[in-house]
Amino acid sequence: MYEPDCTKGCPVATPIRDAIRLLLESRIPDAGKLLLENNPLSIICCRVCSQENQCEGHCVLGRKGSPVHISAIEQYISDYYLNIYKPKVSKNFKGRVAIIGSGPAGLTIAFTLAQRDYDVTIFEQNDQVGGILRYGIPEFRLPKSVLDRLTQKLYEMGIKIKPNTTIGANITVDDLFRDDFKAVFIGTGVWRPSKLNVKGESLGHVHYAIEYLRNPNVYNLGKKVAVIGAGNVAMDVARTAFRHGAQEVNILCYKDESTITAREHEVEYAKIDGAEFIFNKSAVEFVDGGIMLADTEIIIDENNNEIVRPIPGTEKLYECDSVIVAISQGPRAVIVSSTKGIEVNERGLVKTDEIGRTSRKGVFASGDVVTGAKTVVEAVRISKIVANAIDDYITNEC
Ligand code: SF4
Repeated sequence: MYEPDCTKGCPVATPIRDAIRLLLESRIPDAGKLLLENNPLSIICCRVCSQENQCEGHCVLGRKGSPVHISAIEQYISDYYLNIYKPKVSKNFKGRVAIIGSGPAGLTIAFTLAQRDYDVTIFEQNDQVGGILRYGIPEFRLPKSVLDRLTQKLYEMGIKIKPNTTIGANITVDDLFRDDFKAVFIGTGVWRPSKLNVKGESLGHVHYAIEYLRNPNVYNLGKKVAVIGAGNVAMDVARTAFRHGAQEVNILCYKDESTITAREHEVEYAKIDGAEFIFNKSAVEFVDGGIMLADTEIIIDENNNEIVRPIPGTEKLYECDSVIVAISQGPRAVIVSSTKGIEVNERGLVKTDEIGRTSRKGVFASGDVVTGAKTVVEAVRISKIVANAIDDYITNEC
């Protein structure tokens, strides 16, 4: 069957053309049902996807003018539908499934399996559901009220939620199997900030992005803030800092402008908010009152790899009140270290096959804890496959 380019450009193959047709026929509930059944996080993806590289970037109208504003249409339909959506509530369960972590991967699997008559329990280490969606994406990009509405639907489906529960710290994966959970899904994300490993990193004015974004209200950053990094998280941090009292925010990049990894859209918003970029500088030491910054140069090592290094003798004090390091994150190891038989790679990411099976029978994983930090829609894409694998496993092997 012919598939439009916009759908081909969407990682979860959203049936955009059909949804728009139903909308134009004033059949919004049908359009909403179509979107939700294809993507349980449609209401979130339409707000946080890189549409310019995905659906809208592939729209044929964009070749000669402006593409269809697919994200706005999806948002309109999904918002409408979530208000009227009445989830199916099962009474004859096929078995218990434990979902550890309620970020994009965990939510996708919880939704999918609850609608297939599984008795789903979410174990969430924070006090509210959402993982990176709630504690890593700022309010101005993804309002918490959207997550609250989704959480309400989880309860309506009969999903049980155990907040403030860290699996591995007290209850273990072995306890879950003892208690007749047929399958365990790990979607715990990546919450351990990567360090720069330079002197002074433990000083009081140096913070990490993933920790800052969790609750910016509790930080007193002062008026001048430096953000180290060039990805989307760095842009989120810069924009959040402005909304919490910073008057000057500089984004420090150790390479040039062409190597910014953040979406163009996010870079533009950060600039509109007032952020200024400083390129080709590397932090060589954090000191009271700021950072020692050096100019950088690129060299090619003996293995033909490009290495960026500070140029000795060029260090100068860059004065600021606080610094936020936004370079990347890795997984915390508490589940894996407390559970026998789950293999991880050298970065601590859980090893799985292509359908999410870990090295331990009955334990599945997907999302950032497997791939490292990726997009929300990518976590949904693979988690739909993993939900099918869990369903098959419980149906055929338990
Ligand atoms: Fe576009 Fe993301 Fe929606 Fe797909 S899920 S149609 S990429 S906004």
